[in-house]
Amino acid sequence: RQLSLPVPDKPTEVTNLATSFNRLLDELEKKSEKEKLFVSNAAHELRTPIATIRSHAQLIQRRGREHPEIIPKSIEYINDESHQMQSLVDELLTLSRADRMTLDFDNYDLSQSLNNISDRLNAAIKQKINRQIEKDIRITANEESIEQIVTSLLSNAAKYSPNDSVITLKLDRINDVTQISVIDEGRGINDEDKPHIFDRFYRSNDVRGSIAGTGLGLSIANELSSLNHAQLSVSDNHPHGSIFTITFE
Ligand code: ADP
Repeated sequence: RQLSLPVPDKPTEVTNLATSFNRLLDELEKKSEKEKLFVSNAAHELRTPIATIRSHAQLIQRRGREHPEIIPKSIEYINDESHQMQSLVDELLTLSRADRMTLDFDNYDLSQSLNNISDRLNAAIKQKINRQIEKDIRITANEESIEQIVTSLLSNAAKYSPNDSVITLKLDRINDVTQISVIDEGRGINDEDKPHIFDRFYRSNDVRGSIAGTGLGLSIANELSSLNHAQLSVSDNHPHGSIFTITFE
């Protein structure tokens, strides 16, 4: 029996088929390249805290009895590095879930929710949060993930700004466009770094090695914003600092 294969009528159809097939292959290749890069970056980032933890544990084992004075410092390192690993693993889990996540949307009071977040964070950060939150603004979105984005932006604002500066949390609605902004008076972000800060694992050179972080917070915030059909963007504050804006249209 002869197999009947679908034979395209015209040569242009073959060309179109080949073109779309090639495009699909390109996309798949790019995706798997990206995934490989992601896994190798994650492994690399985890290796550093693991190595530090192991070397301090060994140090305590070898010299702790004779030189007990080294113990507190080593335990501090172990503590810090395990915190770093914990955030990294939590964020990696969130990211891997974000790829497959569909969120439940509700219509809720965003003004109220932002006030709650601000209350909660007030105790945890040094800076004062100046609220410019318009009342009774409701949106249809996933409340939990919006909370996660705003908390992450406020924590970054605190982390990259002096303790005595002010962080502004703003909410307004103009012509049906709702915007949340987190404005800080900190170090700001160079123009060269701006295009990359939403990339996974990207950290600017001036903070690497001096301020703890994973480089994943903003990429998560960006993916969660997309899942909520919102746009996350960054601009400069004047005379210094950054402005992160979430726009719902
Ligand atoms: P992390 O803070 O863990 O490094 P993020 O993904 O949250 O990771 O941020 C990526 C990078 O963007 C940071 O390492 C820092 O260089 C820069 N950045 C983020 N938020 C701010 C901010 N408010 N002010 C200055 N730089 C920032």
